Amino acid sequence: MSQRAAPLDAVVVGAGFAGLYMLYRLRELGLTTRVIERGSDVGGTWFWNRYPGARCDVESIDYQYSFSPELLAEWIWTERYATQPEILRYLNHVADRFDLRRDIAFSTEVTGARYDDDANLWTLTTDTGERVTARYCIMGVGNLSSVKRPDIPGLDEFRGRWFHTAEWPHGGVDFTGQRVAFVGTGSTGIQALPQIAREAELLYVFQRTANYSMPAVNRPLDPAELREVVAAYAERRRASEQSDPGVPGEPPTRSAFDVTDEERRRIYEDGWAVGGIGSLSGQFNDVFTSPEANFTAQEFARNKIRAIVRDPAVAELLCPQHFIGMRRTCVDIDYYETYNRDNVQLVDARRTPITAITPTAIVTADAEYEVDVIVFAIGFDAMTGALLDIDVRGAGGRSLRDKWAHGPRTFLGLAVDGFPNLFAITGPGSPGVLSNMALSIEQHVDWIADCLVYLRANGLDRIEATPEAEDAWVRHVNELADETLYTVSNSWYIGSNIEGKPRVFMPYVGGCGRYRGDCDAVAAARYEGFTLTSVPGAAS
Ligand code: FAD
Repeated sequence: MSQRAAPLDAVVVGAGFAGLYMLYRLRELGLTTRVIERGSDVGGTWFWNRYPGARCDVESIDYQYSFSPELLAEWIWTERYATQPEILRYLNHVADRFDLRRDIAFSTEVTGARYDDDANLWTLTTDTGERVTARYCIMGVGNLSSVKRPDIPGLDEFRGRWFHTAEWPHGGVDFTGQRVAFVGTGSTGIQALPQIAREAELLYVFQRTANYSMPAVNRPLDPAELREVVAAYAERRRASEQSDPGVPGEPPTRSAFDVTDEERRRIYEDGWAVGGIGSLSGQFNDVFTSPEANFTAQEFARNKIRAIVRDPAVAELLCPQHFIGMRRTCVDIDYYETYNRDNVQLVDARRTPITAITPTAIVTADAEYEVDVIVFAIGFDAMTGALLDIDVRGAGGRSLRDKWAHGPRTFLGLAVDGFPNLFAITGPGSPGVLSNMALSIEQHVDWIADCLVYLRANGLDRIEATPEAEDAWVRHVNELADETLYTVSNSWYIGSNIEGKPRVFMPYVGGCGRYRGDCDAVAAARYEGFTLTSVPGAAS
């Protein structure tokens, strides 16, 4: 990447689902754009998370772009839940088909972003020492991309190999004949463990918190079936856009207590047979708000675990005790069945925490486990981590880290008061991680693109959220969340997986449809809640 004399119209950070589509839209508008990506190629999440068993848990036919009918028609998904290699191939295909790579600087990490009040420009600094200056700075850095590092004493002295699932080696890892320690049983662990168990000689699973996992009921997709779906795709997508989670389907209308115990069990049984994230939590309209309704779904899940896992003590340890749906619900293929294998041992890392690592073993409060390989599936500094990894300075040199010291504050999850011309794609305060993110990303990118068109058409070049609009939005997000069980549950949604992180519930829980309505209303009211100006004398 060379330093350019003239400022660009826009700089985008990240080349995942968000950055790629943003680049496509900006280019379509004739705006000069540069994308900066830390990885050596496109794909974001799907570039980094190459661990065995990695897949989407929103169905492939919904977890894709909808902006190009040609792209939709030509890409043939092969499974209900696509594997990581297939999703990565898809994103590479998108990059090739729309010739996106020529505007992306790879293997370059943005370390700082500073707004210059006089020039009305953002300057980004990178780890390669180069600087990029642009009018608009668009963050497509991802909600789950700032990797949480293991900090167990002794790891540096470990003589075997160790890996983080979110930075998996491109050539894969051969576990044959190896004694493996696996730390973490969230979405990633639940996907990876069944695969690794098939190869490893011995697999110790260190579980701090048992999580709910629903059966994927994965299956190959018939190309003819897929063609039918694509033929009616616009309708499917419109329905998804108006839904809460961003996928098609009618919302539940009944309470868990509108039916008899037997009927409720049958409904859960049917949901379990269909599979997917909402197998249980999507059956009744009060599972997210009523502890008693939630308990019925929990009990059903726990009984399923007890029925699958043969050793009753192991089954009990695998039974989650928190509200279902309030931490990320997992989707698996043969997860619980894995614990029936002779080479798999579950370790209760809540009762006997990991205290140290020696050159050859993991040490807990009451035992030592000799291993050759350690795998950490311990997740991310979610939602704010990647944004705050960058030293972002807004108007008057104000730091985003300072502004968000007590938790993120945004207007619509898209913009921040004090940070003009800065946009976050699926930022905190938007439905992002609670939704089908492919759909939410498209919505944000389209909203930002339309906003830039509006500014240009009206001779404006500076947009900034007002403090009042931001306050009102933060209040609204909190009020909605307070009506649910989310705010009384520990999860990465609330920052509780990271020591010292402020406990603030970050996503917008009102659903994709309602949220889209709010964003559209702001745009229709000439960007009400923003101050729009033109900066005299600023370089154009
Ligand atoms: P990302 O894909 O995370 O891309 C962000 C990019 O920005 C990364 O490539 C990163 O390297 C780059 N970047 C970050 N900071 C910098 C910097 N400072 N400088 C330069 N580059 C930077 N969502 C769903 O809706 N359905 C699913 O089934 C699903 N499955 C998932 C499975 C896993 C294992 C994970 C981790 C996430 C999953 N998600 C899923 C969420 C997923 O992150 C989003 O769906 C989507 O891929 C996000 O795209 P993005 O472009 O916003 O972010």
